[in-house]
Amino acid sequence: MKSQSDMIQVATQAVIKASKICLTVQENLVSEDSLSKKDRSPVTVADFGVQAIISQELWQAFPDIPLVGEEDSAQLSKPENRLLNENVLKHVQLINPDMNEVQVLGAIDRGTYTGSSKGCYWCLDPIDGTKGFLRKDQYAIALALIENGEVVFGLLGCPNFPIRSGEYQENRNCVFKAVRGRGAAMAQVQDNELTEWQSINTDSVDNPSDAIFCESFESGHSSHSDSNKIKTLLGIEKPSLRIDSQCKYAIVAKGDASFYLRLPTSPGGKDNPDRYVEKIWDHAAGVILTEEAGGKVTDIYGEALDFSLGRRLEDNVGVIVTNELLHEQVLGTVQEVLGM
Ligand code: AMP
Ligand code: MG
Repeated sequence: MKSQSDMIQVATQAVIKASKICLTVQENLVSEDSLSKKDRSPVTVADFGVQAIISQELWQAFPDIPLVGEEDSAQLSKPENRLLNENVLKHVQLINPDMNEVQVLGAIDRGTYTGSSKGCYWCLDPIDGTKGFLRKDQYAIALALIENGEVVFGLLGCPNFPIRSGEYQENRNCVFKAVRGRGAAMAQVQDNELTEWQSINTDSVDNPSDAIFCESFESGHSSHSDSNKIKTLLGIEKPSLRIDSQCKYAIVAKGDASFYLRLPTSPGGKDNPDRYVEKIWDHAAGVILTEEAGGKVTDIYGEALDFSLGRRLEDNVGVIVTNELLHEQVLGTVQEVLGM
């Protein structure tokens, strides 16, 4: 087994390569680059390309460590998706010319690990915030290492960060990193190289009425009507930042917002068998980033997110991410609005 610093090094380089695919694909988005998954969320050539590249890099360096990845190749392998398949291969080969079609599909399917409370595995969302990607807004490549049910390090590649709404400038393309017990940091990708890591911290806002908070752009992913009620009760007048992806965790981690709410879109909490159950790849990297920057993350019950139960956060409902100072007050107000 190689050291943790080897793992961070390989994972960081893999995320930088993946960011490159995303930027290339995004500049040339055309219709066959996306198809509809069963849940109707758009999947792009970059989703598959990123999972193929990162999975291959990790597997070559650490062949014994399994991967929980969001994507699999079932849709991609269908004859009607031939064009998409060719496009994925073309983009992967720009980064790794040695990979052929079979290897690309194989690398994607290495992400089917079920997760476990024991041992060590990678957790990858190749493109978190696909809708933000298609809107040319924020999205993230989210990679974490989970050991015995605990996230031990996380990386967020944010190719459009900090620029919003398609207003590109040369300085976008950030990477965030957090290692358990060793803090959180950010750097920028410039000419395929990372600038020096700068440590980041949550803000020190302790009066909720002074806070800015962030939430999903999509109201289908987090209730905007409940967040509006919470905002009023807390006396917040500034508009919320509506942003796709785990960039929201990064925004709290670097002190640009004081909290982030992910509120259930259906009532009943854990008693509702039809509730949306969060996926581990939507949170693992982001959670450690905010925690290591000084913040706190729980669900709407005030419980820590439990990454030991497989591919989903089976025991949690919603997510509340704060600078720590505001946690109790925000949690209390969420519970009041949700009638808990
Ligand atoms: P966001 O970028 O905050 O809009 O979150 C994007 C993620 O939300 C996607 O990766 C989906 O896995 C996840 N998602 C889809 N439906 C829901 C839902 N009903 N509630 C919460 N998250 C969802
Ligand atoms: Mg996602």
